[in-house]
Amino acid sequence: MYKINDNYQKLPGSYLFSTIAKKVNAYSEANPDKKIIRLGIGDVTQPIAPAIIEAMHKAVDEMGHAETFHGYAPDLGYEFLRSAIVKNDYQARGCDITVDEIFVSDGAKSDSGNIQEIFAQNNRIAVCDPVYPVYVDSNVMAGRTGTYDPETEMWSDVIYMPCTMENNFVPEFPKETPDIIYLCLPNNPTGTTITKDQLQGWVDYANKNKAVIIYDAAYEAYISEENVAHSIYECEGAKTCAIELKSFSKNAGFTGVRLGYTVVPKELKCGEVSLNAMWARRHGTKFNGAPYIVQRAGEAVYSEAGKTQLKEQVAYYMKNAKAIKQGLRDAGYTVFGGVNAPYIWLKTPGEMTSWEFFDDLLARANVVGTPGSGFGPSGEGYFRLTAFGSYENTLAALERIKML
Ligand SMILES: *Cc1c(COP(=O)(O)O)cnc(C)c1O
Repeated sequence: MYKINDNYQKLPGSYLFSTIAKKVNAYSEANPDKKIIRLGIGDVTQPIAPAIIEAMHKAVDEMGHAETFHGYAPDLGYEFLRSAIVKNDYQARGCDITVDEIFVSDGAKSDSGNIQEIFAQNNRIAVCDPVYPVYVDSNVMAGRTGTYDPETEMWSDVIYMPCTMENNFVPEFPKETPDIIYLCLPNNPTGTTITKDQLQGWVDYANKNKAVIIYDAAYEAYISEENVAHSIYECEGAKTCAIELKSFSKNAGFTGVRLGYTVVPKELKCGEVSLNAMWARRHGTKFNGAPYIVQRAGEAVYSEAGKTQLKEQVAYYMKNAKAIKQGLRDAGYTVFGGVNAPYIWLKTPGEMTSWEFFDDLLARANVVGTPGSGFGPSGEGYFRLTAFGSYENTLAALERIKML
């Protein structure tokens, strides 16, 4: 008789965003006349930029002709996209990354979930708390996290690095030495980030302790401050200790188009074994390439017109972020983030828990946000609002919050 992967049985309760959806649906069924404004989910709302649409149309037409038809894409991505990535995201920033270190994929969620496969089960992982849930859950599925304590909402074998007001949401080097360190900067959910010097500290720490950093740079395009690194490879020594994940979802609105890439440097070695070769082998076995049409769309992200249009899109969301931050401050809230990321992280008023504030905001302002506790125990007492809505809705939501 077959056996299932028991690790899946260990995954706790219901998923954060389905719990939110249930509560919101119940509220709107009971109050059909109320207009709900959603500033909860991390999805973009602006349409795909014209330069990208044009590139996609052209690629679609090519697919209809025998001479320009494309079948399976190369497992690791088309050269045209990989070299555009290298040129624009790395060489332009002085990072010595080459085309054969770029692995094109269907997005950073799958890569962040899958990358753990190339590591042994008995590695200790360290995560920021609060955290993007994929990092922990994918390691639970792999049986790497020990036992779950519903009381503390923590796994026995996971090293948590609390990021709270007390440390400015900057993770500190943990007491126990981790083998794999997940860092997401700028951060989802807190919207905060660290300086390039602080990131260099993490690179030095990883090299010294022979740990690997899995660096999620999904929000890189939102960085506005000078002293913040756009890539971990801006730090000296990062190529011997870091894997970088990138996504086209948040900078170019590809959440429904699907495209991302992962950088595994050739210098990243465990003893004699190249992680670059391992990931190439894994990719070639389990992934059949991102679609040609989508990779052409990705190439257009780096065209002059694409860059200009996307800068405007990011600016649009960051205008929302600024309005949310200022509006909440005026209303007396303590707020963080929103400078290098499209997320605003606020302290719930008084002694309110994250979920109490969620319920209150939904009932009295008809605004939906995300309870901080859904991202980890240190998120309790905090709340996330996103800048991904329309400007009009964002302002309307703030007016309602100010009236509370
Ligand atoms: C949105 C997001 C991603 C991107 O995922 P895709 O699969 O590329 O859409 C990755 N990491 C974090 C932390 C995110 O918030």
